[in-house]
Amino acid sequence: MIMSSSEIVPGVFRIRGKYVDDFGYLSSYIVVNNGVSAVIDPGTAGDPGEDIIKHIKQLGLNPKNDVTAIICTHGHPDHVGGAGLLRKKTGASIMIHESDAKLLKDPSLFIKERLRLDLAGRLAMKLEKGPLRVNYRAAEPDHIFHDKETIKIGDFELKVIHTGGHSAGHCVFYESKNKILFSGDEVNNFPNEPQKFYLDLSGDIADRGTALDKMTRMDIDYLLPAHDIPHLFGEVSLQIKEARNGVNHFQDTVLRLIKARGDSDIEQLVYDIEVSRSVPIPEALDALLPTTLEVTLNSLKKAGLVKEKDGIWYAV
Ligand SMILES: [Zn+2]
Repeated sequence: MIMSSSEIVPGVFRIRGKYVDDFGYLSSYIVVNNGVSAVIDPGTAGDPGEDIIKHIKQLGLNPKNDVTAIICTHGHPDHVGGAGLLRKKTGASIMIHESDAKLLKDPSLFIKERLRLDLAGRLAMKLEKGPLRVNYRAAEPDHIFHDKETIKIGDFELKVIHTGGHSAGHCVFYESKNKILFSGDEVNNFPNEPQKFYLDLSGDIADRGTALDKMTRMDIDYLLPAHDIPHLFGEVSLQIKEARNGVNHFQDTVLRLIKARGDSDIEQLVYDIEVSRSVPIPEALDALLPTTLEVTLNSLKKAGLVKEKDGIWYAV
């Protein structure tokens, strides 16, 4: 297999996985500083998993001694599936936020609690070999990090920022010297469509909005997402702005559709959105739009804009 990696700034490498449906390429990152290294978002066990060890060797490092940390932005299978295997080969510590740590300890929770897939959905996911397939063994995290904690890789310092939009435990990592933000799935979930996103059932659309607002005020030259290509310099603020517009547009669309019908349930909203093509829809898995809708409706309810009775939603 031809390996594909690029050095974004000295000591920060992107490892590109294969292209998977509308999710685009999976991206993992290796940070090397003063002879130690860490992997950010190891990807699935197979891809780019295997390539990561090869790259570490190519960089002149010894996988057994020189890799200290496996740092996870969040607990979704397409980004942590390879964490356990990578730890076995390196002895590095797996680090994640408390609220997503349970997905590492019990991978089946992703389909049972975060997507609430029924049996048909679970079978479809197993068969399609998609990136969200839960096919890895449970792993106990070694370190639970918190908002504002600093993680050191040699002299390279990553500041943890808990965002909690895409999933309850989602964090992004900021490195201030080079102005790098490792953004996981909080900004770009899909290639070329910054407005397209999904939330698992533990996520929070208002928190995603707040996190994106915070990012617009940060000094970022390199935006490094867990899918899709890195975004550099002037393009960074555009990506964040578009992602923020996507959140507003999704909320506005849901409100508009409920108002137009008088009342609606989630299945009706899925249908209306699919027919009207009013928001960009994730196509890789049917469960992603209903979960995003449920999280959004709960947020609109909290804001006093809709109410719910027996699964039927009404505009206020
Ligand atoms: Zn994710």
